[in-house]
Amino acid sequence: MAPVSNAAVKGEHIFRGIGVSPGVIRGRIVVMDHDHNEEPARRHIPKEKHPDEIDRLQSALTETRRELSVIQSQVQKNLGDSESAIFDAHILVLEDSTLIGEVKRFVETENVNVDYAFHEVAEKYAHALEKVEDEYLRERAADIRDVASRVLNHLTGHSQQDLSHITEPYILVGHDLTPSQTASLDRELTQGFATDVGGKTSHTAIMAGSLRIPAVVGLKDASENVVTGDYVLLDGFNGLLVVNPTDQTLFEYGQLEKEQEDLQIKLLEIRDTKAVTLDGHEIMLSANVEQISDTAAVLDCGAQGIGLFRTEYLFLDRKTLPDEEEQYTSYSRVAQALAPEPVIFRTLDIGADKISHAIGETDEANPFLGWRAIRFCLARKDIFRTQLRALLRASISGNLKVMYPMISGVEELDEANALLEECKSELRSEKTEFDENLEVGIMIEIPSAVLTADVLGTRAKFFSIGTNDLIQYTLAVDRLNEKVADLYDPTHPALLRLMQMTVEAGKRHRIWTGVCGEMAGDPAAVTLLIGMGINELSVAPTMLPQIKYLIRKLKYSETQQLVQEVLECESSMDVLVQARAMVQRAAPGIFHTAI
Ligand code: PEP
Ligand code: MG
Repeated sequence: MAPVSNAAVKGEHIFRGIGVSPGVIRGRIVVMDHDHNEEPARRHIPKEKHPDEIDRLQSALTETRRELSVIQSQVQKNLGDSESAIFDAHILVLEDSTLIGEVKRFVETENVNVDYAFHEVAEKYAHALEKVEDEYLRERAADIRDVASRVLNHLTGHSQQDLSHITEPYILVGHDLTPSQTASLDRELTQGFATDVGGKTSHTAIMAGSLRIPAVVGLKDASENVVTGDYVLLDGFNGLLVVNPTDQTLFEYGQLEKEQEDLQIKLLEIRDTKAVTLDGHEIMLSANVEQISDTAAVLDCGAQGIGLFRTEYLFLDRKTLPDEEEQYTSYSRVAQALAPEPVIFRTLDIGADKISHAIGETDEANPFLGWRAIRFCLARKDIFRTQLRALLRASISGNLKVMYPMISGVEELDEANALLEECKSELRSEKTEFDENLEVGIMIEIPSAVLTADVLGTRAKFFSIGTNDLIQYTLAVDRLNEKVADLYDPTHPALLRLMQMTVEAGKRHRIWTGVCGEMAGDPAAVTLLIGMGINELSVAPTMLPQIKYLIRKLKYSETQQLVQEVLECESSMDVLVQARAMVQRAAPGIFHTAI
């Protein structure tokens, strides 16, 4: 029997989105608040009520100060003095007599409600600060807004979402989650999550994979139609959020879970084997990692190393940049843990949906086409140099390789390599050891890189195709935008041709080509990638055992034949049908995939 529900929707209701992290989970949900920081409505307040409004303001300020002091002491305990000092600046905003005085005058002269007055005045201050040259002062605009939203929550009776009092496991449902919010979810209690926005390769989705919890994004308005306490079934394979599942639905899912349990046993049996096809063709199968703490999962899942370590996650969710020493310690710890297997550290790919408060928000109309990854690093050589030095120093701790993201042409690669050479010279003169033969490769994720792969191949030791971005840049489809998610098409003939061209360029230069985008973890896509001659696949640890199982059930010759046929296909649907059919034939139990 499904537990009784107090749901906003009555009876079973299915919301359809995009499954981004496999698995099925059932349980009670917690719905995250929508953003309450919209402008408060302006209301007329007669003169005799002004003192009440001012009293409301005073108690909201007192409450906010109390709240901030609690947070500050928690942060001090967990993270240290420098992080907790941020809250000194926040508390100062509450004590700013010019600001508070102006709010009171606003109420008295305009006869308005204090929440409206507070919002107007705080916005005016924040706006003015945003325009100044000085970076430090500009950042204070964010402090004012942060504090203002807390004060407004007290004035309007909304409370800031605090999940710390929840002690039972829950499934989180919300409009959106940022990558850093996802990274800081309580790993014990959060059993899955579902959001209204987002696409299959949003970094929030990728983080869900590393957390090993089922996740569905792109559910459009689901979060507005459910309430905390609703009983749901979340299907991360097929991208479904089923509210109030019927007994029949629960029964059917019970069958699916049983099949999955049987499969898990088979997957465990092949954990320590290699990814070799039935006719003896070996694929290097490695894992994608976002956080140092994930390295244990890499060893557990039977990977042959790390094919993509997204170093930018060390830079998120913090107020100051990690220095050379901190980065060196992190990189060498990972390299050591995986030695002698390789670890490919991708240099900082900050920007777009991965915003670091330590670097500051950049206001860009098209952030995915903007100041991101290698472009950012070449403009901020101070930050890039620190990372390259840390990586070079860590290179003696294991089998470490480096890879640059978002290379669009040879000049960027030359400039990055020139900086790397400078760092090497510095280290030599400091008599600091590093691996003189450190291999440096590049990500192929922009069509211009594919088209110039012949030149890039003379300077790179390997290519790793980032299909998440290659698809978005080839098809002009924003990878985060659920409105165009159906155009985000991994089997589009254009994409297959670009990947084939990359493999061929790699072969001509006798360098290996891998794939580290989400496509490498998708069974149907894997049949195509192997047939194209891809040498390495780097996938989320959660998907890796399935992919190994599939590879071991395929024949290289049949995948090559498949690629010959699909390269003639005019539509992506024809490609998909043929690729799926091959998975069905070879490994029927694993066919749960989003493409
Ligand atoms: C990619 O673009 O495919 C990739 C692996 O990099 P990211 O998802 O971090 O942009
Ligand atoms: Mg990318």
